[in-house]
Amino acid sequence: MPNSELINRDLSVLWHPCTQMKDHEWLPLVPIRKGEGVWLQDFDGNRYIDAISSWWVNLFGHANPRINHAIKQQLEELEHVILAGFSHRPVVELSERLVELTPPPLNRCFYSDNGSAAVEVALKMSYHYWRNQGQPGKTRFITLSQSYHGETLGTLGVGDVALYKDTYRPLLMEAITVESPDCFMRESGESWEDHSRRKFGLMEAALERHAEETAAVIVEPLVQCATGMRMYHPVYLELLREACERYGVHLIADEIAVGFGRTGTFFACEQAGITPDFLLLSKGLTGGYLPLAVTMTTDKVYQAFYDDYETLRAFLHSHSYTGNPLACRAALATLDIFRQDGVMKRNQRLARHMGRAVAHLEDHPHVGEVRQTGMIIAMEMVRDKASRTPFPWQERRGLRVYQHALGREALMRPLGNVVYFMPPYVITEAQISHLATVATEGIDLATR
Ligand code: PMP
Repeated sequence: MPNSELINRDLSVLWHPCTQMKDHEWLPLVPIRKGEGVWLQDFDGNRYIDAISSWWVNLFGHANPRINHAIKQQLEELEHVILAGFSHRPVVELSERLVELTPPPLNRCFYSDNGSAAVEVALKMSYHYWRNQGQPGKTRFITLSQSYHGETLGTLGVGDVALYKDTYRPLLMEAITVESPDCFMRESGESWEDHSRRKFGLMEAALERHAEETAAVIVEPLVQCATGMRMYHPVYLELLREACERYGVHLIADEIAVGFGRTGTFFACEQAGITPDFLLLSKGLTGGYLPLAVTMTTDKVYQAFYDDYETLRAFLHSHSYTGNPLACRAALATLDIFRQDGVMKRNQRLARHMGRAVAHLEDHPHVGEVRQTGMIIAMEMVRDKASRTPFPWQERRGLRVYQHALGREALMRPLGNVVYFMPPYVITEAQISHLATVATEGIDLATR
């Protein structure tokens, strides 16, 4: 079967995510027949390196034999069971492992089945905690500009991506938005650390003004991924942790995108030496295999809900596929690979290679910045380098890079004007070098 056949059938019955479907009148959809390692193969025999880990989920390659094996074994025993009133081995083992991997106060795991749901759980739990503690007035959330926490109504409310949010604004709760410490915006000559410290002044002011009505501050630690891999220094998280404590406000760390080694440490928060009150994980949790998410929190939060049923203090949130056994088994196999393979060490080498491979783009007349945190590297195309003036979004320059890359065996999906790599950890140095060549060609073409 050729690509075209599946494309035609697809376009007559599907509605794709994050897509203006009319684009597919001229932009071919890519139907994938098979995945193996970093490679995706379509029905016409073309192949593509998955440079973006299929929306940042894949860690150890497609069709990873060890994760495949674990899921197949689990399938023979139990595919799914209700998690209310019932339990199963994979979910208990996974929770034990996650508690072991995180700092001691984080010792409770509440599961759901996608990142947005994990965020919703944290928002509800934080508000509900304060309510149970006799502070029902803490109903608001503080968020950073340029943040992304999902696209359900609750998560759009605490996010700040105009493209996804503006249309739905009348339906959303109103968060308190503080300017991001995004270091792309630093003064010339200013260090990431100095810039991040300076920007923290705005957060301090917001907390001082709003602490009484605020349940939690929610942040994406170190990298604001969806708004173009905008990065900041760990000192911001250090200061934030201390301030949240001082003002009696929870800290929610959304590590859905940055967890599991993406930033160079297993969790991004480690680089600041902090422990949030809520840690949210999804995406890489199952190695990119199955939908699963977890909202981790502390015993202190847990105890505020623990009481006789009639007090109505329980947290009654639920999703049908909560803690699915196949997904938990995939997650356990993923954690085993981390434990057995010295992944973080190899990643350091790969990260250095990524940095070297695209370093030349710093001198490109239309690249405003090449920035990197661990295994995430981004190149921001700009119209004017000196003033960092962006290309108008309507020109869709990133899309040209995407189209070029497809013809050069690479799946890159720039975020607006930001070309980036966030590859599966099984990528080789040679494959990274190829991606760098393709990105350079793509940026040349797109900025002409
Ligand atoms: N938080 C962050 C930081 C994310 O990057 C994402 C997904 N890109 C989400 C939340 C939402 O996750 P999901 O798409 O699984 O709902």
